[in-house]
Amino acid sequence: MNILDRYHAMEYGPAPEARNEADAWLAARDFGKALFIGGDWKAAAGGKTFETSEPSSGKLLAEVSDANAADIDAAVAAAAKALPKWSAASGYQRAKVLYAIGRAMQRHQRLFAVLETIDNGKPIRESRDIDVPLAIRHFIHHAGWAQALDRDFPGHRGVGVVGQIIPWNFPLLMLAWKIAPALAAGCTVVLKPAEFTPLTAILFAEICERAGVPKGVVNIVQGGPEAGVAIVNHPGVQKIAFTGSSEVGKIIRKATAGSGKKLSLELGGKSAFIVFEDADLDSAVEGLVDGIWFNQGQVCCAGSRLLAQEGIADALIAKVKTRMSRLRVGSPLDKNTDIGPLVDLTQLDRVKGLVAEGARQGAVCWQPDAALPSSGYYHLPTLATGVSPANILAQEEVFGPVLATMTFRNTEEAIELANNTRYGLAASVWSENVNLALHVAPQLKAGVVWVNGTNMFDAACGFGGYRESGFGREGGREGMFEYLTAKLPLGPVIKPATMSAQPVEQADGAAIDRTAKLFIGGKQVRPDGNYSLAIATAKGKLAGEVGLGSRKDIRDAVSAARGAKAWPEATAYNRSQVLYYLAENLSGRAGEFAARLTELTGATPKAAREEVEQSIERLFLYAGLADKFEGRVHQPPARAVTLALHEPVGVVGIVAPDASPLLGLISLIAPALAMGNTVVAVPSERYPLLATDLYQVIEYSDIPSGAINIVTGRSAELAGVLAKHDDVDGLWVFADAETCAKAEAESIGNLKRVWSGNGRGIDWASDQAAGDAFLRRAVEVKNVWVPYGD
Ligand code: NAD
Repeated sequence: MNILDRYHAMEYGPAPEARNEADAWLAARDFGKALFIGGDWKAAAGGKTFETSEPSSGKLLAEVSDANAADIDAAVAAAAKALPKWSAASGYQRAKVLYAIGRAMQRHQRLFAVLETIDNGKPIRESRDIDVPLAIRHFIHHAGWAQALDRDFPGHRGVGVVGQIIPWNFPLLMLAWKIAPALAAGCTVVLKPAEFTPLTAILFAEICERAGVPKGVVNIVQGGPEAGVAIVNHPGVQKIAFTGSSEVGKIIRKATAGSGKKLSLELGGKSAFIVFEDADLDSAVEGLVDGIWFNQGQVCCAGSRLLAQEGIADALIAKVKTRMSRLRVGSPLDKNTDIGPLVDLTQLDRVKGLVAEGARQGAVCWQPDAALPSSGYYHLPTLATGVSPANILAQEEVFGPVLATMTFRNTEEAIELANNTRYGLAASVWSENVNLALHVAPQLKAGVVWVNGTNMFDAACGFGGYRESGFGREGGREGMFEYLTAKLPLGPVIKPATMSAQPVEQADGAAIDRTAKLFIGGKQVRPDGNYSLAIATAKGKLAGEVGLGSRKDIRDAVSAARGAKAWPEATAYNRSQVLYYLAENLSGRAGEFAARLTELTGATPKAAREEVEQSIERLFLYAGLADKFEGRVHQPPARAVTLALHEPVGVVGIVAPDASPLLGLISLIAPALAMGNTVVAVPSERYPLLATDLYQVIEYSDIPSGAINIVTGRSAELAGVLAKHDDVDGLWVFADAETCAKAEAESIGNLKRVWSGNGRGIDWASDQAAGDAFLRRAVEVKNVWVPYGD
C-alpha cells in the first residue's frame, strides 16, 4: 500500500462530544415543574405532561409539563404585571439585562449545544458553531438596540405583552430571535417552544433567573397546539410573533383578524439555489451541502430547489453525487457527523411519504450507498432529478434532506423558475459574475438572497419572507419595528357605509350622462356590470354617478397593476419627478377640487381649499422622499456585506376612507407609488367623485398606465375581493371595523401584508399622518448577502 492508498483508506475515528454535563442536568431537573411563569417554576394546571425523546435513539429524555389555557392565563398575567416597570426602565437598564443574558449563555455554551443536539438531533458541529453562537450574538446585539431606542426609533414604544410561538428546528436560536428584540423594545413575553424540543428553553429560563431578568418579563410555557391557541387568542396579548408552518401561520392570521394584535409570521419556504454556468462549481457544491443538508434539511430557508444552467447541469450533478457519497450520517453528538436524525418519527414518515410521491410523479430519487444507524429517525440525503416544475418535490416544503433539481437555459428562465413557488423566503445565486448575481437578486421573490453563499444569518441583518413565507422581519432595525408601535394621530371611528339607503334626487338642469367610469390600465372604462351608484351632494341632490365596481373590475385592475412594469422598474428619481408633476397638475385645478369638496361634503370653502392644499403638499412630500427612503448596508461579523434593499411590496390594494376624501386617498396612494408599488384604489364610497375627478390629473401626469387603478363602488365588498385576490401583495384598509376584520381574515390565500385601521381612521390633516410610518408599509426589506475576498 503506497502512501496515497493509505491516505484514502484512512477512516475517521469516532469523535463523540461528552454528554455527561447534559445528562447530569437532565437528571437533576424536575420536568414536572417546567413552566417558567412570573419567575417561578410551576407544574401544568391540568397536571398533564408530554414526552420529549432523543431522535438518535428514540429514548425518552423527559416528561415535561404541558400547559393549558389556565397556564397561559397565568403567564400572560405575569407578563402584564411586569410590563409597566420593564417598559419604563431605561434603555441602559434593559441593555444590561440583555447583555447579562448573552454573557451567561456564553458561560454555558457547551451545555446548550449538547442539550440542543440531544433534544433535536442536529449535529453537534452545527449547534456548537452556529445555533448557540448566533443566539448569544442576538442578545448582545440587541442590548445595543435597547439603548438606541430613543435615537433610532423616536416616538415609538414597545407594543406590550408579546406571545411568541416557535418551531423545533432551531429551538434556541428561534427563542433568541424572538426574545431579544422584544426585551430590547421594552416588551414582556410569553414564549412557547415546540413540543419536540423543550429542553434548551428550560435551560434558558434558568439563565434568565441568574442574569437578573425581572420576574415576569420572560415567561416560558411548554406545551403543544392547545397552549399555542390559547396564546394566540388571549386578549391580554398585544402582539403575536409566530415561526412555524405556513398552515398554522394562516390559522393564526385568521384567528387574530380584527383583534388589533400586531402580527409577524415567519413561515415555510421552498428556496431556489441557482447555479449559473460561470459559477465556481466546487464552491457551489459546498454551498449546497450547507444549503440543503444543514440540519438535515429541516431549515425554513433550505435551498431545496437546485436550478442548474443546462451547460453545467450534468457536471454539477455528478459533483453533487460524489459529495453526497462522502456525507457522514451518524450520531449527532459525533463531531464528524454531517447528517443526524430527523427530529421525530412523524417527520421521518412525512419525508419518506413526500419522496415516494415525488418518485410516483416522475422524479428520479437517488441516495448514496450508505448504512444508516440501526436506531433513530435517520433519512439518507436524497437527490431528485427529472423533477418537473409541478412535481410535489418542487412545490412542497419537504423539510428534510431532499434536493429537487431542475435546469434552466438563460437568466430569464432561472428567475421565472425560482419565482414559481407560493413561498418567498430565501434564494442563493451562484455566479463568478457579481454583476449578473446582483442583476438577478432584486428580481427574486425572496426576503433574503445569498450571492455565492447560503444560510448566512446575523442579528444585525433582517430575515423573513414574502407571500406564504409570511411577513415581518427578524433581526436588525426592521426586526425591532416588529416590537414597537408609534401612535398615528387617530381619526374618528368609521361606521359601516349606509349609502344605499340614502335617497338622492336629480340636481337642477342635469341632462347629460354624468356617470364617471372606472380607471383601469390607464383608461376610463365602464364597470363590468354596467351598474352605477348615485352620489349625493351635501344637500342631498344628485352630484353625479359613479361606476359600481365588481369582482371582475377588481380582477382587471389587479392584472393591469401587475402588468405595469414601467413604474416599479423606473428609477426613484423618475418616480419622484412624476409625483411632483402630479402635484403640479392638481395644483392647477385646486379651485375645482375645493369646490367639489364643498359640494359633496359641505366643507367650508376655506376648509376645502386647505384639504386640497394639504393633498398637494403631501404629494410633494412623497415626491421628495421617493429617492430618500433607502435601504442600508450592514457589515455583519463575516467577510460579507449585506445590502438591506427597500423594494416595493408589489400590487397594493387601498381602501380609502370617507373622512378627508381627497387627502385620505392621496395620503395612502402617494407613499405606495413613491416606493414603486402599483395601486388598485377603492376611493371613499360616499365621495368617490373626488377620485374620479383625479383621472384627468393622472392622465396628464406621465404616470404609466396601470400604475394607478381606481375602482369605485362598495368599499366593504371590494375590500373583500382585494383581500382574497392572490395577486395582491399588500392591502391597506381604512373602513369600518367589520370590513377591516374581514379583510384580514380573508387575506390568508397568499398571506398578503394587511394594514388596517381596525375601524378607526387617521387624522389625515395631521403632519404625523405622513412620512416613514407610511413608507415602511410600502416596502419589503430584502437582505442581499454579498461575500467578498478570495
Ligand atoms: P408548526 O407550525 O407545526 O408548529 C410551530 C409551533 O406552533 C409549535 O410550537 C406548535 O406547537 C405551535 N402550534 C401548532 N398549531 C398551533 C395553532 N393552531 N395555534 C398556535 N400554535 C400552534 O411547525 P413546525 O413543524 O414546528 O416547524 C416547522 C415549520 O417552521 C416549517 O414550515 C419551517 O419552514 C418553519 N420555520 C420557519 C422559519 C422562518 O424564520 N421563516 C424558521 C424556522 C422554521
